[in-house]
Amino acid sequence: MVKYKDIKSLTTDELKEWLNAAGEKPFRAEQIQNWLFCHQVRDFSEMNNVPPSTQAKLAAEFSIQSLTPAHRADSSDGTLKWLYKTYDGHFIETVMIPTNGRFSVCVSTQVGCAMNCSFCRTAKMGFTRNLEAGEILEEIIRVNWHLKDSNTLGEDGKIAQVTNIIFMGMGEPLNNLENVHRTCCTLHHQKLFNMGRKRMTLSTSGIVPKIKELVDRNTPCCLAVSLNSTNNERRSVVMPVNDTWPIEKLLEATDEYTRRTDNYVTFEFVLMKDVTCTDIAAKELIRICAPRRCKVNAIVLNPADDPTLEAPTPEEVEHFLALVRAAEIQITIRNPRGRDISAACGQLAYNQQKVVYAHTEST
Ligand code: SF4
Repeated sequence: MVKYKDIKSLTTDELKEWLNAAGEKPFRAEQIQNWLFCHQVRDFSEMNNVPPSTQAKLAAEFSIQSLTPAHRADSSDGTLKWLYKTYDGHFIETVMIPTNGRFSVCVSTQVGCAMNCSFCRTAKMGFTRNLEAGEILEEIIRVNWHLKDSNTLGEDGKIAQVTNIIFMGMGEPLNNLENVHRTCCTLHHQKLFNMGRKRMTLSTSGIVPKIKELVDRNTPCCLAVSLNSTNNERRSVVMPVNDTWPIEKLLEATDEYTRRTDNYVTFEFVLMKDVTCTDIAAKELIRICAPRRCKVNAIVLNPADDPTLEAPTPEEVEHFLALVRAAEIQITIRNPRGRDISAACGQLAYNQQKVVYAHTEST
C-alpha cells in the first residue's frame, strides 16, 4: 500500500489510509503533517500530541530525515550550497541564494539527469533515479533548519524562512512530474507551507507533452523554459531535447500554457560566446518573444569543464541586452552567484561522484 519510505512524501489521504490500516485514528494525519511541515520537527518524538505508541509505529515504518549532509560550501556572496547523500548512497545538491531579504532555494529533483545538455555538469553524471517528494521537500526544510540554527533574521526581525523555490537544480523536473507535483501541492497547501504559486518556478529543458500535463494537473507553480538558442540547428547542439521537440513545438506548448493558465512564461537564456550571445541570436530571440507574453532571464555561462564553450565578455553581454531591449522585450540578466563554490547545477555532486568512482576503481 505505502510505497514511500519518507513520510513527507505522503499526501494527507495516503497518510490517513496508512493510519487506518495500522489501527490508528485517521484524524492524526493532519496533526502529523502539521508537525512535519509547519513545525518542521526533526524526529517523531517531538510530535507532542501524537501518542508515543503511534510515534513508535510511524518510526518503524517511515523516516523523517532521508538526506545526510555531506558537505557545505559557503560563497563570499552569501550563496550556500549543500551536498547531500541520499538514503541509498547517491549525491544531490541544494543551493540557497539570499537576495534583498528573499531566501531562494534551488532544489534538485533527480539524481543525475538524462537530458544531456552540453553546458551542464549534471548531464555528465547520467541519470540514476527520481527523488521522492519527501526528499525534495527535505531540501527546503533543511535550509529552514539552517536559517533557524544560524539565527538568520528576515526583514521583519523574525527567524528567516525560505521564500522562493526554483526547481532548477540537478535533474529535469518534468521527468519527475508526479513527485514534483506532490511537492508543489504540499508547499502550496494553506495548512502546510502556504507558499504562493508565484513563489515556485519549475524550469524545464522543454519536454512538450509534460508541459501539457503540467497544465492539465494544474500544478501550482510558474513555468520557465531553458530556451538557450533561437534556432533549431544551434539549439540541438547544446540541448539534444530539441531533436525530439524543436522550437516550434515547444512554443506551441508554452502558448497553450499561457492561454490556459493566464501566466507568462520565462525563457531562460544562457549566454555563450559565439553560440547564443550573437547579433543573429538576438534578432531571433526578438522574433520569438515579440508576439508573446513572456520575459527573458539571461545568465552568462558558468564554464564547466567543457573546453568548447566560453563565457562572453561583459561588453558582448551588454551589446546583446541592448539589442533585445531596443525591441521592448523584457530581459533581465541574472548575476551569477556562488561561482567561487561551483554553484552551477551538478558541479559539486559531479566532483563527489568522480571521487567515489575513483575510489571504487582503485580498490
Ligand atoms: S541543464 Fe537541467 S535538463 Fe539539462 S542536463 Fe542539466 S539538469 Fe538536465
